Amino acid sequence: MRFAEKSFEVRFCAALSAAMMPFNRNPLWYGMTQAQERASGIDTMLRHGGDLVIFQFKAKQGGKFTLERDQWRVLTSVARKYPESTYYVFPEAEDTITAASYGCLLERSWCAKVTDIGPAFRSSSKSVNLTLNAAAKSLEKKRPTKKIAVSSSCGMFGCFCTMDWSRSHLGRALARHEFLTYFFGLKLFGEPAGDVYAPALEGKRFGIPIGRKSDPLDDSEPITERGQLERLFSDSAEQAFRGLWGLFLPHSDRTALP
Ligand SMILES: [Zn+2]
Repeated sequence: MRFAEKSFEVRFCAALSAAMMPFNRNPLWYGMTQAQERASGIDTMLRHGGDLVIFQFKAKQGGKFTLERDQWRVLTSVARKYPESTYYVFPEAEDTITAASYGCLLERSWCAKVTDIGPAFRSSSKSVNLTLNAAAKSLEKKRPTKKIAVSSSCGMFGCFCTMDWSRSHLGRALARHEFLTYFFGLKLFGEPAGDVYAPALEGKRFGIPIGRKSDPLDDSEPITERGQLERLFSDSAEQAFRGLWGLFLPHSDRTALP
């Protein structure tokens, strides 16, 4: 059976939620309707702490991915302002049996920043076909040849499968059967959890800051109301964000990613 875009999307969201769970018990996922997706280019958004990350998922068909210029252009208007906010995600698997065989779906889900996809659209075509070369960590286009670097989602967003358990606080606590002590320690004393989550997240800024500045040293401008978010996209996006006022609800700091 074909690994459909929707199946890939829900499984990716589930896997990323699982990777976040020790630090965030309530990751806020927003799924867009088809009309909203047409206007904004967005499949799904994730709000973690005070930041919003945007995803556009692609399914593999006949060994390739098809990207539309119009969609890429809309997403680019956001990505130019917030480069670490907007991602294309590509599954390595084309069928459900292959997808089910992976130990970690995130490891076999490849990400590219929307701004990095640009070279694929140098010609004037409305859409472009790309093939994934997972061994070379690249998406490739023929005639003219272009290569776009991609990263595994484990490396990009963090995942337990990348960690060295023997050296982590959690690994040591597990070895000593001190699991609960570890989590209480985290909660009470705010023990740094960076080595438990992925090194990739340390010091890296993700997403569009929503509602407030989460880091006083960060000079990116926070988005405080829906109109500002709409204007990041284009006129057509006005409809897309109707009803998404929930984005601006206060979100507990306690559940923010480390
Ligand atoms: Zn992983």
